[in-house]
Amino acid sequence: MIFEDEFSEIIIVGAGPAGCAASLFLSQKKIKHTIIEKEQFPRDKICGDAISGKVINILNKIDNNIVDEIITNKKIFNPSNGIIFCSPDFTKVEIPFGFEKSNDKKTHGFVAKRLDFDNFLFEKIDKNFCRIIQNCSLVNAEHKKESIAITVNVNKQTYQSNCKILVAADGAHSVVSKKLTNFKIDYRHYSAGMRAYFNGVKNLSKNGFIELIFLKEYLPGYFWIFPLPDGRANVGVGMLSKSIKDKKIDLKKMFEDTIQNNIHIKKRFENSVQETPLLGWGLPMGSKKIKLSGNNLLLCGDAASLIDPFTGEGIAPAMLSGKLASDTIADAILANNFTADFLNRYDEAYYKATRNETKISNILQKLIKYERLFNFVIKKIAKNKELQNIITAMFADIKLRNSFTNPFFYIKLLFKN
Ligand SMILES: Cc1cc2nc3c(=O)[nH]c(=O)nc-3n(C[C@H](O)[C@H](O)[C@H](O)COP(=O)(O)OP(=O)(O)OC[C@H]3O[C@@H](n4cnc5c(N)ncnc54)[C@H](O)[C@@H]3O)c2cc1C
Repeated sequence: MIFEDEFSEIIIVGAGPAGCAASLFLSQKKIKHTIIEKEQFPRDKICGDAISGKVINILNKIDNNIVDEIITNKKIFNPSNGIIFCSPDFTKVEIPFGFEKSNDKKTHGFVAKRLDFDNFLFEKIDKNFCRIIQNCSLVNAEHKKESIAITVNVNKQTYQSNCKILVAADGAHSVVSKKLTNFKIDYRHYSAGMRAYFNGVKNLSKNGFIELIFLKEYLPGYFWIFPLPDGRANVGVGMLSKSIKDKKIDLKKMFEDTIQNNIHIKKRFENSVQETPLLGWGLPMGSKKIKLSGNNLLLCGDAASLIDPFTGEGIAPAMLSGKLASDTIADAILANNFTADFLNRYDEAYYKATRNETKISNILQKLIKYERLFNFVIKKIAKNKELQNIITAMFADIKLRNSFTNPFFYIKLLFKN
């Protein structure tokens, strides 16, 4: 046994945004716990690196000074002020981000390499309340009568331990969800994404706007260019796994073909340098609602399939779920109740907080499959300030989104001049 003490009753597997958020909020409540992480930080994570205002909102709840640290560290964090949507016929619309009501209006969002952002979060972990074990891989988890028994590998040695609550924050290829739930990849609710870092891409937005380019061949996914500090960019593609399978697509080839041959895009890459290989990873999406808890178990972030199906945003859902998991853990400790029935309040809290935005994202993800409709919508938005404001609100203000859940609301607007 490597751990059997006051820190081992609550174990978090994975120190990505979900695991770090769970840890930081547990420490705020002075609850001792352990994080086990299979890598050694700083570690990379394949991602688009776009970090939205929703994350800023959560960071502010951890510590008011964090956003100041981000703003002043221009080497790592590039402030991002909006989104450029580009339709298959190459109509562009620029949507500036609005501020969340509760935000302190310092920055809308930012783009930062996950190597840096994740390490930044990791270093915030409070070691008074959290024991961190790195290079420690969870290889098995089993339900026992009133606990979960885990098996981990550290330095080629195997150890076992029991915990009252296991927080699965071990990402898209979660071992915990494979062992303790009936999770199976459903290609209709799963995307594949690839990204590479480039230097010297032309015409990057000066205001740090991220670009979502909805090329016909990628629908309902997109090609992206996200501006990083120092004139670099994260360039990538994301596409629904079912479309990849049905159309027998080679995503890597399609990406290369886009950069080399697409008449609108190739000019921007003419003198650029690809600094890293194109690497891929899975995106388990929240378009299919799954059970987030069980006896002694809470699933967070990608391990719980929470990625927004329209935007591909997964960092904010990961951190929100980590926060709500910590609230539930505090309740469970107080009630000394770690049963599935009790922990179900975590499912309720998460799905209540995100119900409306998930509904909108599901609708939008279905709508953008239709190329002509999508061209039409983007043209309308480009001409219609009211629609632009709505989209701005959708990307910034979770509470405001509540008014926009009725599809007829959009349809009416689309027929406005
Ligand atoms: C190509 C691509 C582009 C994306 N772009 C964006 C974007 O621009 N913006 C955005 O918000 N989201 C984006 N996402 C989604 C985002 O990357 C994820 O949703 C997010 O990383 C989820 O955080 P997490 O903490 O749940 O998991 P992760 O960040 O994957 O962290 C999981 C951690 O668990 C550790 N771990 C895994 N297995 C074990 C084990 N067995 N034992 C111990 N530790 C383990 C890992 O080492 C890792 O540190 C993108 C995803 C992809 C694939």
